[in-house]
Amino acid sequence: MHYLDYAATTPIPQAVADEMYHVLTEQFGNPSAQYPLGYAARTLVEDSRSIIADALGCEGKNLFFTSCGTESNNWAIRSAVWHGRRIGRHIITTAVEHSAVLEPLRTLAQEGCEVTRLRPDRDGSITVKQVADALREDTVLVSMMLVNNETGCVFPVAEVAQLLKEQKSSALLHCDAVQGFLKVPCDPVRWGVDLMSLSAHKVGGPKGIGALYVADSLKNFRPLLPGGGQERGFRSGTEATAQIAGFAKAVELRRKNLGEKLERMAALKTYCRERLLTIPGMEPVGSGTAPHILSLSLVGYPSANIVTELGAQDICISAGSACHKGKPSHVFAAMGLPKRVAAGTIRISFGPETTEADIDALYEALKEHQARRFPML
Ligand code: PLP
Repeated sequence: MHYLDYAATTPIPQAVADEMYHVLTEQFGNPSAQYPLGYAARTLVEDSRSIIADALGCEGKNLFFTSCGTESNNWAIRSAVWHGRRIGRHIITTAVEHSAVLEPLRTLAQEGCEVTRLRPDRDGSITVKQVADALREDTVLVSMMLVNNETGCVFPVAEVAQLLKEQKSSALLHCDAVQGFLKVPCDPVRWGVDLMSLSAHKVGGPKGIGALYVADSLKNFRPLLPGGGQERGFRSGTEATAQIAGFAKAVELRRKNLGEKLERMAALKTYCRERLLTIPGMEPVGSGTAPHILSLSLVGYPSANIVTELGAQDICISAGSACHKGKPSHVFAAMGLPKRVAAGTIRISFGPETTEADIDALYEALKEHQARRFPML
């Protein structure tokens, strides 16, 4: 198999699976239980929290476990709006956020919030000036992703944090860092980001576990799940100990020689880009600089067909959230890509396990696809 869809999810290294198996079968206690098996589980959860917090440059007390990036985004957004309820109901975001941000915002708009969605340029970039121009006295939240999941564009989150500080804005800054964590610089404390969402399965961890960073300043942050009082009362529910341990193990492993890993991914991305652009009709899409995401278009060849045909040959790539249930991507629509370019856009994404052989196989398969199929008009 040639797996080139790391932005969708990542394989779990053996050491992560082993750690999870150990927790599931031996260290299975409830962290709230008052006997040694429970104490051990509590220690495991708190040690895991520290490992992930350290990778994010924050303290464990600022990191809350959730079930996924989607949950972290929903919690952050809903609670930020509630937090600012006496100030206003205006929210700024980008038109190219993941649906895990856009959908909760759509619901809030139905409930009376006003949402400004900043449009990217043709390259997929968003500038801090766009945020400055949209910022108002009644803005309560700016939600901006760190790395776009379809184009790999890196957004100016640190600069937006600086802007909010300079303008003495009461708006909270939420960052969906699901695609950025351990891929590009990500430093919520130093930048002054209030809320940041993470997800384990994009960095070699299991699915079903995420985290939300909440800055110290948000003392009265609204709990997500009232109940038994876990996660210091903010997100009740018995801790998913195996997933939490797997998340921490994945982070620990990924951080070993991280610089080298990222350089290697970036080199593979360049290799892939140069190789694939030799195919007639192949065009770059966006100017994404994240090391693990490459977006290209085989102009006029519907990406849904490419993805299925390559999938049958065990080559896994994505049409991005591109042709989600046959609908064109909101990202490419916002970028104003011509229809034939948007239709042919594929996303290739890399991880530490990717090899040049994976890319060579993809190149051959794409050439074959082009030779066998007719482009749309
Ligand atoms: N945000 C971004 C940018 C993503 O790419 C994804 C997943 O693809 C999510 C959020 C959702 O994360 P999860 O699958 O953990 O809910």
